[in-house]
Order: sequence, then C-alpha cells, then structure tokens
Amino acid sequence: MTVKPALPHPVTGAAYPSPVPPGTHWPDDPATARTPVAEQAEDVVSLAVSASDLHQLTARQSVCRACPRLVAWREQVAGERRRAFADQPYWGRPVPGWGSDAPKVLIVGLAPAAHGGNRTGRIFTGDRSGDWLFAALHEVGLAATPTSTSAGDGQGLPQARVVAAVRCAPPDNKPLPSERDACFPWLVREVELCRPSVRSVVALGMYGWNAALRAFAEAGYSVPRPRPKFGHGAETVLAPRTAGPPEHPGQEVLLVGSYHPSQQNTFTGKLTHGMLEAVLDRAKTYAGLE
Ligand code: SF4
Repeated sequence: MTVKPALPHPVTGAAYPSPVPPGTHWPDDPATARTPVAEQAEDVVSLAVSASDLHQLTARQSVCRACPRLVAWREQVAGERRRAFADQPYWGRPVPGWGSDAPKVLIVGLAPAAHGGNRTGRIFTGDRSGDWLFAALHEVGLAATPTSTSAGDGQGLPQARVVAAVRCAPPDNKPLPSERDACFPWLVREVELCRPSVRSVVALGMYGWNAALRAFAEAGYSVPRPRPKFGHGAETVLAPRTAGPPEHPGQEVLLVGSYHPSQQNTFTGKLTHGMLEAVLDRAKTYAGLE
C-alpha cells in the first residue's frame, strides 16, 4: 500500500494520510486501531454475525480487506487522487452504512464512488449521485441539510440510513459476483440490526433491489413468489417469517424501487428530481413519518 503525505481534512483541517488509518479521529470513523480486520470472505461471515450493534458492525466493515482486487483499487485511487481533490486526503477504506441507528427508512445502493464515498468516507457523499440523493432526502424531510459534501459537515439522517450492497469502490462501478457475495454478510447483519425499527426500504437500481430482496430473505423475511420485479416505483411487502423478541415484534416492511440516481439516468431525464422524491416520500409515509 502506498501511503501519501498527510493532507488536511476539508472540514476539521486535521492532517491525514491516504488511505486514512482507523482510529485517527476522522469524522464519523467508527473504527479504532484494535478493530478486528476481515482478511477473507470467511472472516466477514464471523465478524458480521458476532457484531452486537451497528457501531461495532460498521467499525468492522470500515477496515475490511476481504476482496484483494477492491482493496488494491480503493487504495490506488486514494493514493493517486483526482486533480480536483488533489489537496484532500482520501478515505480509501470500505464505506460503511451511515445514518440513524434506529432507522425507519433504509436506502440500499450499489457501491461507493471512487472519488465520492471512497474520498469522503461517507456513502453517497462527494459525487453527483449523492448530490441528487441527499437533495431529495432533504426535500422530503429525511435529511438535515440539502447537501452532503464531507464527513463532519453537519449532515444527518435522524430517521433513515443509507447502505451499499458492496462497501468498496469497484473499478468501472462493477463489482464481481464474488465480491458482491463476500460483502453480503455485512448487509444481512445490518438489516438484522435495523429490524426493530425499519418499516420501509428504498432500493436504488436493479442492483440495490436484488441485494435488498436477498438480504431481507436472509434476515428472516418472506419474499413473495414470483419474485417481485424491479422498476421505478415498484413495490412489494416483505413479511417477517418469525416474530422478533417481545420488545421488537416483527413488522412488515415495504420495499420500493427507484431508478439509481446515476448520471446516466439523471442526465438523460430517465430519473427526475420529482420521481426520486416521490419514491422517498412514499417510503417515508409508509414508515409513519410526518
Ligand atoms: S467489498 Fe465488502 S467484503 Fe470486499 S473488501 Fe470491501 S467491505 Fe470487505
């Protein structure tokens, strides 16, 4: 791994090398220098299953090294940096789930962008797709502010949480099936730990839709048959197969699909601001939020 000279964080001004070492007070870094590291897919399974809460889970996610190709890519990008961000440190680590620890609305995307989440350390932050998503989240009342630019910028999701199906930025935005599968236990555990509160899920794109269906099935929910098809505005209800503990009885969850706010979709008008806001508003309303 090439570690570049330290550069100042855009919000705090503290100096960091790229990639950012865990436990060095990067805003929202859940890990410490002692957080256990998954070195291979089997480690992801054991470390995900044994995570007792979302903080421990995201700490473990954020130091994972189970996919050699993605580790090499995320760190190469962090070392080289794009010219526009040459004066900033790059996170260069897996981008964990972020938002409320008891979310009513869960948003499932594909993977962090090489110069977005892989730079800022926060999912959907620092790239055009994220600009669209957070503007829409704010418009419907789920995000504290209309922009998400850097960890530590004051943004917040009091009732929602955003997760990626794959936590490391992949080359060409295309993770391999083996990388998707290696990362899957992190997603399943995140869904399990959100189960007491979550009432609706927004899947961004077909990739997010399939990941959400698979993860909720693995986490104890029934998926209707035939398997619901993805579409913008498509909906399906996932019912818990088993009741939770008395303090957290199982509740049905509404899954809603949205076209992914990728530039391919937003530049062409396939996805408009109004379309994305309508899906988020539907999820919010179903979750009983005003
Ligand atoms: S993609 Fe997921 S499993 Fe693979 S290294 Fe990144 S966090 Fe770990």
